[in-house]
Amino acid sequence: MTSHKLNTFLEKNLTELKENGLYNEIDTLEGPNGSEITINGQTLINMSSNNYLGFANDTRLKEKANAATDKFGVGAGAVRTINGTQSIHDELEAKIADFKQTEAAVAFQSGFNCNMGAISAVMNKKDAILSDELNHASIIDGCRLSGAKVIRVKHQDMDDLRAKAKETIESGQYDKVMYITDGVFSMDGDVANLPDIVKIAEEFDLITYVDDAHGSGVMGKGAGTVKHYGLQDKIDFQMGTLSKAVGVVGGYVAGTQNLIDWLKVRARPFLFSTSLTPGAAAACIEAIDIMSASTEEHDRLWENGHYLKEGLNKLGFNIGNSETPITPCIIGDEKLTQLFSKRLTEEGVYAKSIVFPTVPKSTGRVRNMPSAAHTKEQLDQVLATYKKVGNELNVI
Ligand code: PMP
Repeated sequence: MTSHKLNTFLEKNLTELKENGLYNEIDTLEGPNGSEITINGQTLINMSSNNYLGFANDTRLKEKANAATDKFGVGAGAVRTINGTQSIHDELEAKIADFKQTEAAVAFQSGFNCNMGAISAVMNKKDAILSDELNHASIIDGCRLSGAKVIRVKHQDMDDLRAKAKETIESGQYDKVMYITDGVFSMDGDVANLPDIVKIAEEFDLITYVDDAHGSGVMGKGAGTVKHYGLQDKIDFQMGTLSKAVGVVGGYVAGTQNLIDWLKVRARPFLFSTSLTPGAAAACIEAIDIMSASTEEHDRLWENGHYLKEGLNKLGFNIGNSETPITPCIIGDEKLTQLFSKRLTEEGVYAKSIVFPTVPKSTGRVRNMPSAAHTKEQLDQVLATYKKVGNELNVI
């Protein structure tokens, strides 16, 4: 017997989603995530992944993962606070701290639970968090979980940030006040104005938290957006993921030794969830070693980003104001955007549509994520396909 109430709830809501075209069908990839992917036997050029540097299927990372699996096993066995830390996890955290130029770092099982755990470990109901309105869902959930008063700040609006910081501090109602922002915003590819943010934070003694999921490996020659601006000693939390440019899985916070010591005793995903697999930790170490030794992949990523943007721009597409390789192609109307993406797929290019509520109404877009793994031939094919579909659907 299963719950009648649950079944009624599921049936009603799933039907509603499907009827409104809001049910998200997930494609199954029949192989690795690279510049090409295979779905239902069809090989497609992949313009949808966050695998910026092409590391997700890199032989060097796979070799290290396999060797660490042989040495440490497939699983960590238990949470670190109960069963100890395998040395490979310590090694990873030291590597991250070194790469980010901070005193210490702590790794989590994903970027999502890193934000959930780190924000709520430090902020509580006596505090306030100023949060950019376009911040990632994991930030929003972490803020909610903390119980702090959350104040939305207009996207990248420094006047709004300053006014709200002033008002919040001068109200005298709150113990600590944090400003939290993505380093690179993944829908538009714009970069947080960290120099101005730091000035405002210094004026009002705000705690600063930068989620650099899309900046790590991409900005600052790979070391991230904070490094790009040379502000390593001015940002309290340098948060990042190991799932995008690093190509594996996991999340981390880099900061002072005190901050990391605190997170290791108070961040609940650290305390109550088993750590990364040893294989994943080893692959991440290799990725950071590669990024530290050379900017080859980073440079190719940017070159490919420029090439794609220039090509789409010449074709007459609206590519927005991205400052990074992230290349949105803004179509506007939601239905047309979805049709555009569907036609691209039929023609061999996998680039997903992103529509309201993920982005504001009438700014539907097909988002392209060029990577270091793409060849010029693949990008030319992408451009030729955009031209064909763009003409067919009267978008250009
Ligand atoms: N923060 C941002 C800005 C992200 O884009 C994402 C991933 N979409 C996350 C956090 C979560 O990272 P992960 O996928 O590693 O859990």
